[in-house]
Amino acid sequence: MNNVIEYLPHGFCIAWNPQLLAMHVISDLLIAIAYFSIPIGILYVAKRRPDTELQPIYYLFAAFILACGVTHVMGILTLWVPLYYTQGITKVVTAVVSVATAIYLLPKLKHIMALPDLSKLTQINTALAEEIVSRRQSEASLRHTQELALQAQKTQAAFLANMSHEIRTPMNGVLGTLDLLLDTELKPEQHQLASASKRSAASLLSLLNDILDISKVESGQMTLRRSPLEIADVLADVEAALAFDAQSKNIELRCPAEGLPESVYVGDSVRLRQILLNLVGNAIKFTDVGHVKVTCRELSRTGQVATLEFAVKDTGVGIAPEHQKNLFKRFTQVDSSSTRRAQGSGLGLAIVKELVELMGGQVRLHSEPGNGTEVVFSLKLGLPTLSDSTERDQFAPPAPAAIQTETIPPVQQFHGKILVVEDAAMNQMVVCKVLERLGLASKVANNGQEAIELLATEQFDLVLMDGQMPVMDGYEATAVIRSGTVPGVNPDIPVVALTAHAMVGEDQKCLNVGMNDYLTKPLDRAKLIEVLGKYLPKA
Ligand code: ADP
Repeated sequence: MNNVIEYLPHGFCIAWNPQLLAMHVISDLLIAIAYFSIPIGILYVAKRRPDTELQPIYYLFAAFILACGVTHVMGILTLWVPLYYTQGITKVVTAVVSVATAIYLLPKLKHIMALPDLSKLTQINTALAEEIVSRRQSEASLRHTQELALQAQKTQAAFLANMSHEIRTPMNGVLGTLDLLLDTELKPEQHQLASASKRSAASLLSLLNDILDISKVESGQMTLRRSPLEIADVLADVEAALAFDAQSKNIELRCPAEGLPESVYVGDSVRLRQILLNLVGNAIKFTDVGHVKVTCRELSRTGQVATLEFAVKDTGVGIAPEHQKNLFKRFTQVDSSSTRRAQGSGLGLAIVKELVELMGGQVRLHSEPGNGTEVVFSLKLGLPTLSDSTERDQFAPPAPAAIQTETIPPVQQFHGKILVVEDAAMNQMVVCKVLERLGLASKVANNGQEAIELLATEQFDLVLMDGQMPVMDGYEATAVIRSGTVPGVNPDIPVVALTAHAMVGEDQKCLNVGMNDYLTKPLDRAKLIEVLGKYLPKA
């Protein structure tokens, strides 16, 4: 140390003139200032861009540059102060830090080289920004399409309800007048013609019901009822409804209700009947010789739920394997050419499949051309409890395929006077004539307002109330009757809806405003008699 002090620092050396000194001092000073400021930038970046791989390099670089800055400061100081040891130590520190930086940096070069350069990053960034914009646009357009689809679904539901109403109203007229005509004295040929047109009208109505059913299932509006269900009754109904068709083809039709541990289950009898009518109807349609047989058995039960299996077997023409797989799709027929042997819309099996699945079951078909067809379906039904057996399925919707074209229910005579609230002249005539046949007097009101006026001044025993009418509709009129606010109007008079609206929820809507029962157009005479029987004395 003493040895070092004995020498004059070179700043005092006469060989170092002021210009040379200034050159060294100013350069070292500027380098030192730059070296001290660069780490500030590096540390700022390190803090803002936390990159686990590069972070140590940032700090090592900052330390290395800082150490370089210190060595330059030492360079200035040692011009006049002999701090050569301190200068040596700063150089050692700088050497250590720079070697450490180099050692750390070299293996990282591959990683650093893999990083995209700034122009590439800018490109990627721009592409990403464009993609985000385009995704946002397609999201917005998807939302818009979804809204349109929802809107279309609503429009379709409204259209269906409307069409159902608009078609049922004139159909009521057609079927009703044909019924009345068939009740009169007709020559055999006239009877044959009237029967033929009634069959056509009935099949038109059946097609309408099929289309409505498919639409209901599609829009999730098909709901199942839970009420006591007697399998024997359902099978007997199916046999009775199709006996005529089977007989006229000389085919034996057997629907025995055997082999079930229970006689009553809980479920939707109307829909079960619809499934069986479709399958047995098809079996008869495609069988020329032999028989059609329906069998049923209980497969299993868990808790209060039983799984039943029904089989509809025929000895008919059968279906070729290549045609079998698509038959449960809507509008599919084996022979859809104009010369095909049987009529049909191709909706029957599609409806069967939807209904069976809605009832928790499955449907399958076995068929061999020339050897007949067997359709087997399962479904889940409830086991009856005490409360189920007292419950009544009062408001079952019309069974779409169960239109009896040949059998007219026996005329039953009642006592009483009915107020028919109906705006369509044709329907007024049909309903009044049917009531007349049943021994009932009737009077017509063209709308709800007129109905209330008549009820206030005349005595009636029951009101048959249409839904949609001008001036005042049937729902409002019923609410007014039930309110008891109109003098002379009996607020407890039975009001039965007779509406062309057959969509889901219509029955509930009628009940909610205070109606007692619900009938749909076209008027089914058997159902009318059944409902009237609840409220009117028999003759
Ligand atoms: P459709 O109203 O035309 O009868 P379905 O969906 O009920 O419509 O039946 C579709 C097609 O399946 C029928 O057109 C017929 O070709 C065939 N099919 C259905 N059931 C039978 C059967 N039991 N025997 C032979 N073919 C059948």
